[in-house]
Amino acid sequence: MSVVGPTFFLSFNHKSDYFRCMFFSKRDLQFNLYQLLNVEQLAKYPYFQDHNRESFDMVLDAAEQIADKMLRPLLTEMDRNEPQLVDGKIRVHEGMKAIMRRFGEDGWINATFRYEEGGQQLPVTVHNAAAFIFQAANYSASVYPFLTTGAANLIRSFGSSELIDTYTPNMYNGRWQGTMALTEPNAGSSLSDISTSAEPTETAGIYKIQGQKIFISCGDHDACENVVHLLLAKIKGGPAGTKGISLFVVPQQRVTTEGLVPNDVTTAGVYHKMGYKGAPIAHLMFGSDAECFGYLVGEEHKGLSYMFQMMNEARVGVGTNAAAIGTAAYHASLAYAKERPQGRPIVAKDPTQPQTLIIHHADVKRMLLFQKSVVEGSLSLLLQCGLWSDIAQPALNGLHPTTVFPSWLHPSFLRCVWVFTVLFKCISARDYGKVLSTQPLAA
Ligand SMILES: Cc1cc2nc3c(=O)[nH]c(=O)nc-3n(C[C@H](O)[C@H](O)[C@H](O)COP(=O)(O)OP(=O)(O)OC[C@H]3O[C@@H](n4cnc5c(N)ncnc54)[C@H](O)[C@@H]3O)c2cc1C
Repeated sequence: MSVVGPTFFLSFNHKSDYFRCMFFSKRDLQFNLYQLLNVEQLAKYPYFQDHNRESFDMVLDAAEQIADKMLRPLLTEMDRNEPQLVDGKIRVHEGMKAIMRRFGEDGWINATFRYEEGGQQLPVTVHNAAAFIFQAANYSASVYPFLTTGAANLIRSFGSSELIDTYTPNMYNGRWQGTMALTEPNAGSSLSDISTSAEPTETAGIYKIQGQKIFISCGDHDACENVVHLLLAKIKGGPAGTKGISLFVVPQQRVTTEGLVPNDVTTAGVYHKMGYKGAPIAHLMFGSDAECFGYLVGEEHKGLSYMFQMMNEARVGVGTNAAAIGTAAYHASLAYAKERPQGRPIVAKDPTQPQTLIIHHADVKRMLLFQKSVVEGSLSLLLQCGLWSDIAQPALNGLHPTTVFPSWLHPSFLRCVWVFTVLFKCISARDYGKVLSTQPLAA
């Protein structure tokens, strides 16, 4: 092996080996699922009765293959070529089209849903484990399909059968993107102050929407044919504050007997973030020409309580994102430490002898072990949450527990992980001590 420092350094960076090394440990994932959580026990519930260790392993293998062949190779390219707004449309990396199609065709988007909906009744625990693999491979790419999962889940949980039939099939097959559209220029944490309005039309359940939303993940892009926003707005004349918030399906293009027609949803801008640059975050305008129609989900004024289903799922999701990015960072550190020669062992300082690899220095080992402990501990916690959610699933008809996750950062991946301290405020250093707000239900 070459020990010439600068050459080694250049080759390491120029070939991007840093991003091509192993990015997660399947052994650790399987240890958590089978030894620690005994996830096979879920087969005793009717909902999961067709599953067993073999089917779970097949899911993990399939996830690893897609992550390895489709997601990981695009990590650097997607980071370096950010989404751009061109002629009113956000252009994302060309590879995202194939990724969305693949996620749709292979059933990843609705894998946890019922058979009769085209799902596989897969436990959330195993789905989260697969998502963890995708996220560790390429977090940006993983965001698109799983946002659609959360949005479709809102429609199927609270929407009319007409809304479900009209919108979810194309969300499940990856042709249409789903989003959550809450935040506005003057309303982030304080959602009670949203000003996007909904005015009833002559047709019950259909409203004219007017307003703007900012920071909308995957709010517009060219890897899908349509975008379905799950949008919070206030029906005119309703109560003030959060009690007046309703939930609407607002498609970028609405479904008519003549096919898809533009729904007066325009893109005003795309945000350029510090990290996870491959996924677009959009600034959207609704109803600038008073031609934007929204379809009420559930009952009037109950929108925020419905939206909490998706926000809670996203809280578990972003916790997993942070654990996955940290895991990839740990494996990159480990690969580097195993290849980087520097100095000599403290007991063999002879300068005529070859240098040692930095992994042999006690302090480097200590730092690696610290990283390993944190990432493996975080993953365990998140999978445990998934298991509780699965155990609760038959009893609570799909409600997911709310959890609060700790934050931790690795410098190499700091730019990416940073966003999770903002998004939904679900992870912050001060939350470290109050980790869980749910207890497991008795089986
Ligand atoms: C990468 C990314 C993706 C996002 N994707 C989406 C999306 O898909 N859909 C969507 O709707 N939104 C999205 N958001 C927006 C996100 O939900 C908001 O950023 C979040 O709700 C916080 O709102 P804000 O940014 O307006 O911050 P603010 O609410 O303005 O808060 C700014 C600061 O003030 C503090 N603060 C605010 N109020 C109080 C208070 N009462 N007491 C004490 N401190 C307070 C906050 O903690 C924070 O530190 C995304 C954000 C990011 C960063």
